[in-house]
Amino acid sequence: MSDIPRVALVTGGSRGIGRAVAERLARDGFAVYLTYVSRPEEAEKTVAAIVAAGGQAKAFQLDSADSEAIAAFFANEIKDKVSLEVLVNNAGITRDGPLIRMKDEDFDKVLAVNLRGCFLFLREAAKIMMRQRQGRIINMSSVNGQTGNAFQASYSAAKAGLIGLTKSSAQELAVRGILVNAVAPGYVDTEMTAVLPEEVTKKFTEAVPLKRPATPAEVAAAVSFLAGPDSTYITGQVLAVNGGLYM
Ligand code: NAP
Repeated sequence: MSDIPRVALVTGGSRGIGRAVAERLARDGFAVYLTYVSRPEEAEKTVAAIVAAGGQAKAFQLDSADSEAIAAFFANEIKDKVSLEVLVNNAGITRDGPLIRMKDEDFDKVLAVNLRGCFLFLREAAKIMMRQRQGRIINMSSVNGQTGNAFQASYSAAKAGLIGLTKSSAQELAVRGILVNAVAPGYVDTEMTAVLPEEVTKKFTEAVPLKRPATPAEVAAAVSFLAGPDSTYITGQVLAVNGGLYM
């Protein structure tokens, strides 16, 4: 057997959903490469938890909005060094607010991280996976990309765009054995949602037929399925993990 590590790359894998995905894919047998931007201590905690459980992980500070840094990362850390089997485009941010007061720079930043960043990672990963003639790419969209949401125009636009990116790249890359899907979580208990006012989270919980937020591990289970050996004929799909929340 080859000694080249079978890597799953998880952007924003340092905390929240990304951490749960990183831990789950490590349990599934992948060496996990995770990225973060601002909180190295959280990234190190995730790496330590994976290593303590007997897995392999490395953390990289890599801003999803920085195209040059992403190209350099693929050249220096991935190409000809590891077998890149899975990319999970998970890093994401919000800059919510009323549409008419949304600043250009906030709109641009949300698009840069949540959509353009996913494209940049997908493009670099696809070059490598095409040569391998196999690979799985999973993009973290959101129910808001399917339904829209008041006060989240930039975020919803980015997450809807990610569904278009998923479907287009799935069609283009299928011939090379690369499967591209999206996961669309509903309301998940993470730091991203912890900042919401209590009345908003109460409203979200009431709207969910299962009457509770998802745990990050429940989202990670869907990613694990799409990355794993039981989903060889699924591509271009959006797997909703939303507790029955419907449009
Ligand atoms: P979170 O707790 O805020 O974690 C965000 C992660 O992304 C962190 O690891 C963060 O790293 C990283 N990150 C942020 N900006 C980055 C950048 N420019 N470059 C690289 N990494 C960056 O968020 P979450 O709730 O786990 O959400 C994860 C994904 O799921 C996002 O795409 C989000 O839109 C999506 N989602 C979340 C929910 C929900 O209810 N929570 C629902 C639907 C979809 P640092 O710690 O270094 O900043």
